[in-house]
Amino acid sequence: MPTTPGHKKGRPSRPQPGRGRPHRPETPAPDRTAPELGPDGLPQVSLLRRGVERWQGGHPWIYRADLNGDPGLAGGEVVRVTDSRGWFLGKAFYSRQSKISLRWLSYEDVPVDADFFRQRLAAADALRRKALPGEHTYRLVHGEADQLPGLVVDRYGDYLSAQFLVPAMESRKELIADLLTELFKPKGIVNRSDVGVRALEGLPSEKGLLRGQLPGPISFDEGLVRMKADLLEGQKTGAFLDQRENHVMAAQYAHGEALDCFSYVGGFALQLATRAQRVTAVEISDAAAAQLRDNAAANRLTNLDVVVANAFDFLRDAVDEGRRFDTIVLDPPSFAKNKDAVEAAVRGYKEINLRAMQLLRPGGYLISASCTYHVNEQAFEDMLASAAADARRRVQIIERRGAGKDHPVLLNLRETRYLKCFVLRVL
Ligand code: SAH
Repeated sequence: MPTTPGHKKGRPSRPQPGRGRPHRPETPAPDRTAPELGPDGLPQVSLLRRGVERWQGGHPWIYRADLNGDPGLAGGEVVRVTDSRGWFLGKAFYSRQSKISLRWLSYEDVPVDADFFRQRLAAADALRRKALPGEHTYRLVHGEADQLPGLVVDRYGDYLSAQFLVPAMESRKELIADLLTELFKPKGIVNRSDVGVRALEGLPSEKGLLRGQLPGPISFDEGLVRMKADLLEGQKTGAFLDQRENHVMAAQYAHGEALDCFSYVGGFALQLATRAQRVTAVEISDAAAAQLRDNAAANRLTNLDVVVANAFDFLRDAVDEGRRFDTIVLDPPSFAKNKDAVEAAVRGYKEINLRAMQLLRPGGYLISASCTYHVNEQAFEDMLASAAADARRRVQIIERRGAGKDHPVLLNLRETRYLKCFVLRVL
């Protein structure tokens, strides 16, 4: 049997005291009206065998179908997780409405209190200090991958922007804000819990200032470029920090005439403009395009044109007009929120990548990204190969990249490996 942290310690070899109502392991328990409590007074949730196997295999999520009956809880609790005989397996956050019922917190029987969260937050920060020394802007907490399920915190220098994505984190919002204040002394903490996934948890969309002040858009550096993002009104927590390392990398390949599609506030476009002769940035949102123009002006980059347009139309027209580029970046929003939409997503990716390959001069670079988890790296590479074949171009893969080091990938939760970023050279 593979070793999991659960086998190291904190997993008693016999049932907990006060338990012992015997029933056959794989017969679901009847739905309860009153939750069962463990020795420390926390509610207990027991798993069917498949759930136990997932838990011990290190998967941080347990689905409702793998619970041994309805635990009769309101949702948002820290619970003791047991097998169907009452053996302690660990502690988790419980969600009532979501299909994901349990989110792993610990294999050990430790109190889940302020100190628990303080240590996890400090550990997340310690990783960034090692992986990205000297940086002031990074994802400080990446949810499950930092053992803090349902919590995202991005740091933009003196300001933090947080998302609370599950009921148990939502109900600890003030505690987390207090701990972030104590540990990092930010000038302001923004709450950007205005995201669709909250609806799956029965939580409303919320946005506002949690602590301190926010003087307006916040400046931060990416390589030699100074960016500005609106933490309250911008997309995500204000910017796409997962692409920071890729933005800076893009400057390395930029030359000649460059095109950045799906630009947002210019993460790629401004980097391209530091090296290329001329850059065209295509973005559909007026607000993002306006911020992009401000960002270009603040960096005194005058070789950049911002076009407010649908990138699909722009690319099609550019091919029809016989235009040519030397460097192209494609960084579209997610095209598939679920498995059913994958085929359409791949078609969308192929359309824009095929056109980009047609538009590139020999020796030109295509930096092509996808943040759709459901289209994995192999499927994305297959799509690129098929686009190259249809475009009748020979294409080299120069780099296969992902999100930055501040977005760790949890091997047991492949959902955390969502971002692909290929650097290709068209011959
Ligand atoms: N490249 C950016 C992030 C892009 S996010 C960065 O690295 O910072 C995707 C962007 O595409 C969003 O700003 C969104 O407004 C824009 N967008 C969505 N659909 C679009 C379309 N059809 N044409 C052009 N832009 C689009």
